[in-house]
Amino acid sequence: ARQFFVGGNFKMNPNTKEQSLALAAALNDAQLDPATEVVIAPPSLYLLPLKEKLRKDVQLAAQNAYFKVSGAFTGEISPAQLVDAGVPYVILGHSERRTLFHETSEIVAQKTRVALDASLNVILCIGETLEQREGGKTSEVCEAQLKAAVAVLKPEDWSKIVVAYEPVWAIGTGKVATSAQAQETHADIRSFLSKAISPAVAAATRIIYGGSVTAANCKELSTQPDVDGFLVGGASLKPEFVNIINAKK
Ligand code: 13P
Repeated sequence: ARQFFVGGNFKMNPNTKEQSLALAAALNDAQLDPATEVVIAPPSLYLLPLKEKLRKDVQLAAQNAYFKVSGAFTGEISPAQLVDAGVPYVILGHSERRTLFHETSEIVAQKTRVALDASLNVILCIGETLEQREGGKTSEVCEAQLKAAVAVLKPEDWSKIVVAYEPVWAIGTGKVATSAQAQETHADIRSFLSKAISPAVAAATRIIYGGSVTAANCKELSTQPDVDGFLVGGASLKPEFVNIINAKK
């Protein structure tokens, strides 16, 4: 059985260390389902202070990392630096990175390769735009995004990857995918993994959903057989994040 996984992607929020510590303190005080793996991704500046203060059964993720080991890359953070900071996860290929920062699937795949080589775990984000969905291209787009990663990864690498299906039209819009839409795409992604890698990898890989997940819609989504958790943006900054973590309880 795949362990349920809930990630909180704070994005470029909040704007003070104090507020980010307050978000950690709220999690520290909450009752979290011990059966769920929980990861939060604060802005990189706050990873070290949160590492000190955050309960140990909640893990940290960076929101990005570079595809080089070290060197003259002003402004970037290396996977090795994250590992040294005690950060076990990195989010790669988020749609905001792909769109606003022009990250291609090849760049995302290269980042994934280098992150795994540094022994990070990767939350690998994929997903289609509204135009692509309306054109019937959802599976094709998700598969193309995954293919670039498949090309540079070995089958055993997938045990350190969580795939986050985040339809672009659902991110930050309040337009959550229906549980049927999420299930259909997650099942398509899993069957692609089965064909492209192996049935064993497909059966073991967590595929989580992201895009306007809230306390109100998480329970129904979580009942779908191929929905193995969530990647939460806006609601991860609110008290209801605890309810989403406990969606399966
Ligand atoms: P929202 O939950 O704010 O829609 O964001 C989803 C997301 O992008 C998580 O990575």
